Amino acid sequence: TEQLSTRVQALELPMTIEMSKKSRELAAKGVDVISLSLGEPDFDTPDFIKEAAIEGIHQNYSHYMPVPGFTDLREAIAAKFKRDNHLTYGVDQIIVSTGAKQTLANLMLSLIEPGDEVIIPAPYWVSYLDMVKFCEGVPVVVESSIETGYKITPEQLEASITDKSKLMIFSSPNNPSGAMYSESELEGLARVLRKYPNIFVISDEIYELIQYGYKHTSIASLDGMYDRTATVNGLSKGFAMTGWRIGYMGAPAWVAKACDKVQSQFTSGTNSIAQRAAIAAVSTEPSQIQYMIDAFTERRTKMLNWLGSLPGFRTSNPEGAFYVFAEISELIGKSFNGKVIENDMDLCIYFLEEGHVSSVPGSAFGLPGHIRFSYAASISELEEAYKRLAVAIDNLS
Ligand code: PLP
Repeated sequence: TEQLSTRVQALELPMTIEMSKKSRELAAKGVDVISLSLGEPDFDTPDFIKEAAIEGIHQNYSHYMPVPGFTDLREAIAAKFKRDNHLTYGVDQIIVSTGAKQTLANLMLSLIEPGDEVIIPAPYWVSYLDMVKFCEGVPVVVESSIETGYKITPEQLEASITDKSKLMIFSSPNNPSGAMYSESELEGLARVLRKYPNIFVISDEIYELIQYGYKHTSIASLDGMYDRTATVNGLSKGFAMTGWRIGYMGAPAWVAKACDKVQSQFTSGTNSIAQRAAIAAVSTEPSQIQYMIDAFTERRTKMLNWLGSLPGFRTSNPEGAFYVFAEISELIGKSFNGKVIENDMDLCIYFLEEGHVSSVPGSAFGLPGHIRFSYAASISELEEAYKRLAVAIDNLS
């Protein structure tokens, strides 16, 4: 292994993937594990999207395509940005990639110089931190808490800024907390950012469609932010298309051009059939996927009631996404069979091994003392998980 680059040796496997692996190992031994650790909808891709893919196959979309994506797809994405986000992007400002993950990687490879500071509000999505480090940037983590609904304040943002600050990256709705910044909260952050024109913003809006009666705002639509923001989105969450691997962004043309160049050397344009399917997805009115939101809404209410009633659990009021991010610091220091639960990771492993419920520790998202439970599962599974957790907590002393 000493032949491996230091770059890759420093890279960690996401804890989300580690937890899924552990729970699959238990399941392979015949244990009936309820998996609440995964970040994907439990729905199948809607039929109208599948039909578009099948048509794409019949129409022989089987050749190399333009690196940034088919023009008609990028036109459809431009129309979506206008329809939903009040953002006007030309086709040359839009890049389609292999998942929002690649969109983010393209952006970071294009923007980060070694030593540049990248402001990341915590809790954050696992991969931001490792991608920044991989690009030799320096993550500057700004912690939020349950008291502020897991959002950072303008004062906190300003205090984190130095003359090395290059980027800020955040997601709203947030994975793992579900927190969604309102327009006035984003305006508060934008007011600070306007004083520091050299800081570029990556706004990850992949959970845009999964929210519970709140109004989604894109920070790029606020005064002065358009020319310094990349608006990242994708089909994985809202359209239940995690396996299709379609992510995209709208950004200033100079940024889009750089990402196009990076992508042209690493992967070329993403899968042609998935792109044909993507046209159907982004062109549809969000009401087409309301049935999934309705199901998530019911589960959210139940999960908040259930988990909120567990001793030692505190829950916030997540505006979006499909996670409950529970504050569990009261349970740290308790023990089971003489073994002390030292931190959130220990508690997750205890819940998995003794309660057969898998989840992800908050430390994976830069905020220890928490656990993330996904509610992308059936109501009966969620109820059973709650009962198992209640017993597991009762068995702690
Ligand atoms: N951003 C956030 C906040 C996520 O939670 C995820 C997936 O878990 C992604 C980006 C990446 O999504 P994909 O690469 O499937 O488009």
